[in-house]
Parts: sequence; C-alpha cells; structure tokens
Amino acid sequence: MTKYIFVTGGVTSSLGKGIIAASLAKLLQARGFRTTIQKFDPYINVDPGTLNPYEHGECYVTEDGAETDLDLGHYERYLNTYTSQANNVTTGRIYQHVINREREGAYLGKTVQVIPHITDEIKRRVLLLGEDKKYDIVITELGGTVGDIESLPYIEAVRQLKWEMGNSNCLVVHLTLIPYLRAAKELKTKPTQHSVKMMSEHGLLPDVLVCRTEEPLNDDLKRKVALFCNVTQDAVIEALDADTIYRVPLEMMTEKLDLICLQKLQMPTGIEPDLTKWKEFLNKLRYPKTKVTVGLIGKYVELQDAYKSILEAMIHAGAMNECKVEVVNIHSEYLTKETAQDKLQKLDAILVAPGFGSRGIEGKIDAIRYARVNKVPFLGICLGMQMACVEFARNVLGMPLAHSTEMDPDTDQGVICMMEEQKSITQKGGTMRLGSYDCTLLPDSKAAAIYGSTAIAERHRHRYEFNSQYEKAFEEAGFVPTGKNPKTNLVEIVELKDHPFYIGVQFHPEYKSTVENPHPLFVAFIGAAKVAQEQRNAATKRLFEKSNA
Ligand code: GLN
Repeated sequence: MTKYIFVTGGVTSSLGKGIIAASLAKLLQARGFRTTIQKFDPYINVDPGTLNPYEHGECYVTEDGAETDLDLGHYERYLNTYTSQANNVTTGRIYQHVINREREGAYLGKTVQVIPHITDEIKRRVLLLGEDKKYDIVITELGGTVGDIESLPYIEAVRQLKWEMGNSNCLVVHLTLIPYLRAAKELKTKPTQHSVKMMSEHGLLPDVLVCRTEEPLNDDLKRKVALFCNVTQDAVIEALDADTIYRVPLEMMTEKLDLICLQKLQMPTGIEPDLTKWKEFLNKLRYPKTKVTVGLIGKYVELQDAYKSILEAMIHAGAMNECKVEVVNIHSEYLTKETAQDKLQKLDAILVAPGFGSRGIEGKIDAIRYARVNKVPFLGICLGMQMACVEFARNVLGMPLAHSTEMDPDTDQGVICMMEEQKSITQKGGTMRLGSYDCTLLPDSKAAAIYGSTAIAERHRHRYEFNSQYEKAFEEAGFVPTGKNPKTNLVEIVELKDHPFYIGVQFHPEYKSTVENPHPLFVAFIGAAKVAQEQRNAATKRLFEKSNA
C-alpha cells in the first residue's frame, strides 16, 4: 500500500518547506523507495501561470505542460524524475472542479459545501497520485502556514485521511521555527508550541517536528519541544541554516529524518540511502577550481525567485565544470547602448532571460548586440532568443523596424510573430504553447554537438515564434536556425556562425536541469565562459608583457 507524508508549516512562511519535502523525498528515494512529491497551494488562482513573478517567483513548467509553483522545480532537481499537473493543485483548481460538477448535476440536489465536497476533492487529489501502486510514498506539501484561513480545508482533509488510514500509513511532518533571541542568548520554543496547539485545535497532531534554527538544539530543548508538542523526542529534528540548499538532504540524513518517518510508517529501514552521485556534486560545488562571472539580463532581477530554475541550472553546470558561477544581475530597464560597455565588459558570458511585454526590452537587445559584436558567449532563452533575432535583423540585416509583434503589433518587419493557433485565443492561463515538444537538430550544429544527439525534447512557454518568412535572409547572413520542430517546422534554436558560443533557444532548458543531470546547454555555456575568461586573461598578460618589454 502507498504511504502518505504531509509536510505542513508553522510560525512563519519562507522556512523552506519545499526544500525539506524535497530532501526527505531524496533520502527515501535513495533508500530505494519510489517517491513523488505534490504541492497544494491555497490561493484561488487556478494555477500560478497568470501570476506576476514579483508575486510568486518563477512559473515552473512540467513535461505535460502544467504551469506550476516553483517548488516543483526543486522536486525535479532533487529527485531527477518528472512531475506533472497532478503534482500541483491550487484551491482555485479544486473549487473549479467542484463547481463544474455541481453545474453538471453530479451532486444530485445536495447542498455543496466545504465539508465534505471541497475536502473530498482535496483527498481525491492526494490519493490520485498513489493510484496504480506507482509510488511507495507520496509526500504532499501544504502551502501556507497553519492558522491561515485558506489552509483550513487542507488541514481538515489531512485529519480525515489520517483517521481513515491510520497513523502507520499517514504521517504529518510539521516544519517550524525555533528563533534565537540574541539579547537573551536563548532559543525560544513558544512559537512552535503555539503553532502545534493551533493545529491540534483542528484535530491534527504532527508526528515529526522539523525545527529551523540558527543555533544547535541541545537535548534538554528537544525534550521540552517533544513534551509540549506531544511527539517522541527522536521526532524533534534540528534543521540548522545551511550554506546551500543542496546540503539539506545530507543534514536531514544526519538528523535521521528519513529513518524516523520510515519507523513511524512501519516501513523497512535496512537499506542506507545511496547518495554517491549527490555527494560528488556537493564536493565539486564546495571546492571549485576556478570562477566565472555570468551576466543575467532580465527585468525581474531584483527578485531572485523570478529566475529560480536558471540560477539553479547554472549551479549544476558550474559544479560540472568544477567552477564557481558568480551571477551578476543586470536590470535590462537600465541598460542602454551607452552603458552596455561599462556594465558588460567584465563578464565572461551573457544570459538573456525569458519574459513578457516591452519593459526593459531595448536593454536586452543592447546586451545581445554587445555579446554578438564582442564575441562574448551568449545564451538567449525564449524572449532572449526572440530578441537575438530582432537585434540581428536591425543591426545586420538592415531592418531598422524589426521587432516582435508582441512589443510592436504594427511593425512591417515582424521577425517574431504570434503563432497561428494563438491568434484566436482570448483566455489567459494554460493557453500558451506549453510543455514538451520534439526538436530536430542539424547534425553539424553546435547544439547537436552539445546534446550529443540530433533528436531532443524541451519544454516551452510562449505565444510568439520566429517568422519563417525571414529564415533565408538570416541564414545567408550566418544566423542559422539549427533546431526545428519536426512536425510544425517552428524554429526552436538559432546559432550564429563565426562566434565562439552564441545560441538562442525558444524553449526553456533550465526546467530540465537536475543535480544528477545538469543540462548540457548550461554545461557548455559555462564551459564557454571559462574559455572566454582564459583567453581574456592571456590577452591581458600579452599586453602587459609587451608594455614591459
Ligand atoms: N513573451 C514571449 C512569448 O510569449 C516569450 C515568452 C518567454 O520568454 N517565456 O512568446
């Protein structure tokens, strides 16, 4: 039978429930259990696809084209397995389903209520993942903090599931904070006691407490927490602040989080977690041999979560290259032709980020021009690739009005234009070109060499595309479409000849980079940054020697 673990949060948000859930899942997976993670988000949007990145960080996209919470990115990066729409459910989606069924008459004239109809739908979505015995363990992270009004139906659904399945099949891991009061030089357990008390008012008691803390918890304190929160003492787990999120699985292993969960679920504990590959990665991350500096050009750079998967993919690729990647955030809104040289000259590589709308667009184009002319390694993702086409058209092909029709709907030189099937769509949310699509690469392209294959599949999230009418002109000038969708012929990758590394991709490679499988494009991009740096250093040295001669 599939076992269920729920991860709840108390005291405050941003304690890292997603990372704790992913770390626990990693340890269970490393012991040989088939594990998946699901996230419930208690907001009323049907999915986070319509949310501004400033509100909710990056929108992560799964293979099956679901627009999801960025925690699913962590789940995939840790577990190295795919998630799907079923792994992320919002209150909006639950209500939409229940209301649609009510309109179909499915409730046979009954009054439709939060209990039982909404809670039943929450329970159905949890159990759905455990169907077909695909997983030994399903971990469900409940978004929000215990005590939020909008979390109540979820707490009630978990209470019912625990009652129905019994404590050995259904476990609650509660993540909480033990603050350190500097003035008193003391760790304080009261907020944790209150948060557990609040949960117990709704009939739910945690089985395991994971306590975020800046200072180690001694045995007395653990005993106190256990006594007042009604858990066994070995179920009080210390979660000290870590220097990288990738160390958390190892720390949780030392603290025996996986072991206590398995014991409580009455599952076999004989096999130790095999984390060989994970540890190799951590070692490389910890002891880099060199350092490169990459400029991230985007309009949301002040909010790190907006580019989460890109930043993580660079960490994976850096470790693979045994090199630390320092990311310099460059706000595209404040970048101009005049400031480009000054802001970009120290960079070893330039990445132009995805995005929507016109704000900061000219800054992106200026950065791309700088990378092209100065032969700085360049990776353009989605909007970054589209703007690379616009820049080339304007500055090389002599098309001064070239643009994407997203920013300039009236231009006659729409080198990027709306996909035909998108033109009739008015509804927002889930209506872009989303999810995984095949792509065929030219055998002699840089992309094919990087992927080691001419047949790949990558995830998309966009409405606009390269206008094939201009393909010949671009190609004749050395700007080559090297990857295309085999069915629709849509251009998915462009490369510039006579440049050490200049690749634009219409898809989002960052979504598929994991600790155990860093994405080849990012690995090659960071590799190119290393080479660029070595060449620059050699040139400076030559210059220095010449002036000293
Ligand atoms: N705004 C562009 C489009 O919709 C690019 C989207 C993106 O960068 N994800 O096509």
